[in-house]
Amino acid sequence: MPDEPLATPLQFLKGVGPRKAVDLHRAGLDTIEDLLYRLPFRYEDRSRMRPITSLSPGSRAAVIGEIRTAHLARTRRRGFMIFHAVVADASGSVRCTWFNQAFLRDILKAHVQVVIFGEVKLDSSGLHFLNPEYELVGERPDGEEAQSIAGLHTGRIVPFYEKAGCVTPNMHRGLVRAALLRLPPSLPDLLPADLRTRLGLASRREAIEASHFPPNDESVDDLNAFRTPAQQRLIFEEFFLFQVGHAWRRRTAASEVKSFVPVVNGRIRESAARVLPFRLTSGQRQALKEIVDDMCRSSPMHRLLQGDVGAGKTIVALIAAVVAMENGLQAAFMAPTELLATQHYANIARLLGSSRFRVELLTGSSAGHARRAVHANIQRGTTHMIVGTHTLVQDALTFHRLGFVIIDEQHRFGVEQRGALRAKGLRPDVLLMTATPIPRTLALTDYSELDVSKISDLPPGRKRIQTHVVAEPRRDDVYRLIREQVDAGGQAYVIYPLVEESEKIDLKSATEMAAHLQADVFPSYRVALLHGRMKPDAKARAMQAFAAGLVHILVSTTVVEVGVDVANARVIVVEHAERFGLSQLHQLRGRVGRGPWASHCVLLHQVPWTDDARQRLKAMADTQDGFVIAERDLELRGPGDFFGTRQSGLPTLRTGDLVRDRDVMEAAHREARHLVDGGALPADLQHFVEKGWLGQFGLIEVG
Ligand code: ADP
Ligand code: MG
Repeated sequence: MPDEPLATPLQFLKGVGPRKAVDLHRAGLDTIEDLLYRLPFRYEDRSRMRPITSLSPGSRAAVIGEIRTAHLARTRRRGFMIFHAVVADASGSVRCTWFNQAFLRDILKAHVQVVIFGEVKLDSSGLHFLNPEYELVGERPDGEEAQSIAGLHTGRIVPFYEKAGCVTPNMHRGLVRAALLRLPPSLPDLLPADLRTRLGLASRREAIEASHFPPNDESVDDLNAFRTPAQQRLIFEEFFLFQVGHAWRRRTAASEVKSFVPVVNGRIRESAARVLPFRLTSGQRQALKEIVDDMCRSSPMHRLLQGDVGAGKTIVALIAAVVAMENGLQAAFMAPTELLATQHYANIARLLGSSRFRVELLTGSSAGHARRAVHANIQRGTTHMIVGTHTLVQDALTFHRLGFVIIDEQHRFGVEQRGALRAKGLRPDVLLMTATPIPRTLALTDYSELDVSKISDLPPGRKRIQTHVVAEPRRDDVYRLIREQVDAGGQAYVIYPLVEESEKIDLKSATEMAAHLQADVFPSYRVALLHGRMKPDAKARAMQAFAAGLVHILVSTTVVEVGVDVANARVIVVEHAERFGLSQLHQLRGRVGRGPWASHCVLLHQVPWTDDARQRLKAMADTQDGFVIAERDLELRGPGDFFGTRQSGLPTLRTGDLVRDRDVMEAAHREARHLVDGGALPADLQHFVEKGWLGQFGLIEVG
């Protein structure tokens, strides 16, 4: 249903010229709806008018009165002007001064009624307001009727907005007022009426109005905590619409029927067992059972496999893929980096070596002719499993019979990318994998569509990783530790940060460091370098040499962050550890501790360091539990940054905040499930879910 009054472009508001329109557009504000759903970030109480004689220095106060005298004074400094006015009420009078606002001469003339708001100062000649906010009372300059004395900028609880280009906070307030004046008395509302009644929610129109211009008896503390009924109604609305979309997608998915439903029998079990190189842990067995049970159901699987770094998710996925392949289906395995795809491919090719299944690799750097050959094999069905990067969805790759999709480190992909691979199949089973535990809040977002399996144990024989937080001046101790470990037969990673702004410098430091370590520190060991700017085959060669034990020390940027698996690596040194986020440090630490040896993670930091950095590194030293770390990370950084730069299906929110409004999200989740499971959706909601949902929540973005 078109939401006419709200869909009006902002250019139609008085005062929005081309320049402002551009700035508003840059700030993401195009329509009246955008403007009204951008809530103030802060409110200030300017409602209480004080008698002028009761003003005290240092306080912020509002007074209402008449301008008695006003004049503009030039000063000795060239071009510097001061506007003086005296404002009086029944109790007395007070001086006001403004610097360099000569135009006030034409506005604040004698006998004009004004509200003045600002900080009261004391100087040698008494009390005065310096550069206060002001507002005319009575007839507005543009002829519109004044809203009694409750103005826009004074005399009320006043909203503050994020600045949008040349649009000042005062102008922004004026635009919001103008937009509200255009709204009809009632607006269409996607929240079903009975739900609104049951939860005691205000109407949409009232909630919008009171969120921008709250009644003067509203608590400013509640407003600033976003806890007023009006604000909560808008936040609930947003979360509810988000959750209805998820619940609906979930229900739709559950009612889909696969074109082929796999079976499991003795022969297939044996075939899977032949591929298995070791005994699965009980956590792995349980997860595998849940996955295979799903596969044998008629509706497609949507399951998330969670397991901390090193828990052994890959083998579980592979065994499930073998079950699919035994049923005549093809499997696709998508990984976020070329390095990881290559490693998975090598691993899987080895494990499938004695089976009849053929696996191939497809990445961005696969050469043209090889790529065409792979495409042909996939299309004919002579290749049973394909491992690759996002190339798998970008290429015009068609499958013969894609029935099983695995997406590793799924948070690195956008919703659409994940969906695109699924769309290449015959309503395939989809298994997503992640080592980043999903904190409870986020579990209610994208993930509420998924079933979840968890591997909570680790493969046997793993030793706890010792984490050392070391300051730069003690660098020699770190070299001693590396030497000790390499002498004992182990290998080491030395990691450099690679952040966008200083990519060149960092690259240089990684490159120089590799040369320095080789020449000056560890001349008798082999040191190699790995970074994201290297050609893919050079990267693969460096990684293979390290995996084969030919290289003792691998100096690398964070390209090894996810998934890389070299069991003999026993030390990882993170340089500039203070620059990394918690989840990233946890991923990096997970590169060691994959074999039977005790291993070490050294977080080498510069001094001085910030409190934040200290807290992060301390959290790393305190716990190895990925779930605890994820919760801490979310607290320290907020949800936007939680998964790093890629947005992994986190919604773009206009009013709510995933952390602050967690309880509202829980309620919205419950209500949405309840509504969707109860039968058909109201027509307007159904339309929104099908046509508006992805766009509104920004989920079209590809990560
Ligand atoms: P992640 O869950 O982080 O993706 P991987 O699948 O890469 O972990 O597994 C980590 C390492 O543990 C691999 O070298 C893998 O071969 C090994 N591994 C996995 N499961 C077991 C097991 N049950 N017994 C012994 N080693 C295992
Ligand atoms: Mg992995």
